[in-house]
Amino acid sequence: MATIGHLAAGVAVARIAGPPHPAPVAGFALLAAFPDVDLLLPIAHRGPTHSAAFVVSVAVSVWLVARLRGSHRAARLMAVSAVAVSSHLLLDLVTAEAPMTLLWPFFSTGYGLNVTPLPMIQLGPGLLTGGGLVMTLGELSWSLVLVLIGLARRLS
Ligand SMILES: [Zn+2]
Repeated sequence: MATIGHLAAGVAVARIAGPPHPAPVAGFALLAAFPDVDLLLPIAHRGPTHSAAFVVSVAVSVWLVARLRGSHRAARLMAVSAVAVSSHLLLDLVTAEAPMTLLWPFFSTGYGLNVTPLPMIQLGPGLLTGGGLVMTLGELSWSLVLVLIGLARRLS
């Protein structure tokens, strides 16, 4: 999935943490895109950063930083962080056929669905084709819905 969808999912997940304030919304959006940091590292894409161990590592790190800063919401931030990072893995499962090593470091087996109900944006020359533009508009559309969910004020 392209980064815009992951960021949008993070904005929606931030809604769980509380009312929409810029810092937590931005933080959870970045956490939702964080597994793709492997694209900047000399490791396999959809490898260790796309695993349950990575989700737990990031969530515990958030808890630790929050506790060190004296936050009384550290446990809640940890849980929401786990949901944000997990949203990345879930969206990658339904948008890309490339397997992920979800159980790394215990197993190196790649897991993935053989169906992609949400098409992935084709980066590169394919983006400029008619099909590429349709896929881009599709992802932007559902991403906008997630952002609106994340930023909406409570009705009650
Ligand atoms: Zn990814």
